[in-house]
Amino acid sequence: MSARTIVALSGGIGGAKLALGLTRVLPPGALTVVVNTGDDFEHLGLMICPDLDTTLYTLGGLANPELGWGRADETWTFMRVLETLGGESWFRLGDGDLALHVERTRRLAAGESLTTIIADVARRFGIGAAVVPMSESPVRTRVLTAAGELAFQDYFVRQRCAPALTGVRFAGADAARAAPAAVEALTADSLAAIVICPSNPYLSIDPILAVPGMRQLLEQARVPVIAVSPLVGSRAVKGPTAKIMQELGVELSARAIAAHYADVIDALVLDEADAGLAAHIPVPVHVCKTLMVSLGDREQLAREVLGFASRLSPG
Ligand code: GDP
Repeated sequence: MSARTIVALSGGIGGAKLALGLTRVLPPGALTVVVNTGDDFEHLGLMICPDLDTTLYTLGGLANPELGWGRADETWTFMRVLETLGGESWFRLGDGDLALHVERTRRLAAGESLTTIIADVARRFGIGAAVVPMSESPVRTRVLTAAGELAFQDYFVRQRCAPALTGVRFAGADAARAAPAAVEALTADSLAAIVICPSNPYLSIDPILAVPGMRQLLEQARVPVIAVSPLVGSRAVKGPTAKIMQELGVELSARAIAAHYADVIDALVLDEADAGLAAHIPVPVHVCKTLMVSLGDREQLAREVLGFASRLSPG
């Protein structure tokens, strides 16, 4: 599929794993990753974009495999000194990571778009895919809990997802516009498939779908829209996806993932541990190993998804 292009919708860690596999099996320039910016926030005067940065570090071969976030070979002088000064230290910022936040904040203040800045960083990191924020407009994920509404990073990092979640809202989404580069990729004549990465549906993919026009672009797409389930053996590989599903009273299974995406997907990729659910899912299903431990696993899942997409395509 040399002239064909693929769009992947992604959050952070789980999504970036498949995005990396896709970049490695697709020709250069064939992949656009549209990334959630609902987690973005201003902290210490800096604009921080956790999912975009995880994507950049992962695709650029710079990610920290032990932490699962941030950069490899990181140093922490800034954080140590900040602590001795009595500064806020609940959100960890490594020295190298900090440089990206400082430079992004400076360039945004100088009037550059987030899309341009991220594209430039991706190029400097040697990334062969287009990495695109879902929107230039601020959309901020807010988590509803019994104790009130929390800003996303307050819930996710400061409180380590401990409060029971009763709902999620995306402040600013109604007035947001999809990033032109995302719309262009999703409407390109060359588009062969849209992949919803195995990201948290509620916290990573829903914010993207909340941007006006995004959901319609997926519903109306003439190419297969395929989600990869973030559950393996009806459990989340990492993070709060399963906890949130239980708190929302949703069945903890890929069936609920299919139901959640019912309006937008044409097909679902299920882990082999969930093969028994295939018959209960109302869209075409492809069963394969979806647990990505090695680089080879990421590439193999990418091949499985692309092969499935080719079989689903009419032409
Ligand atoms: P975050 O924004 O950093 O939390 O990352 P994402 O939302 O992109 O990804 C979190 C989701 O990825 C969780 O629901 C995990 O279950 C899922 N996940 C992580 N690794 C894997 C994997 O290897 N295979 C599958 N199928 N899902 C994964």
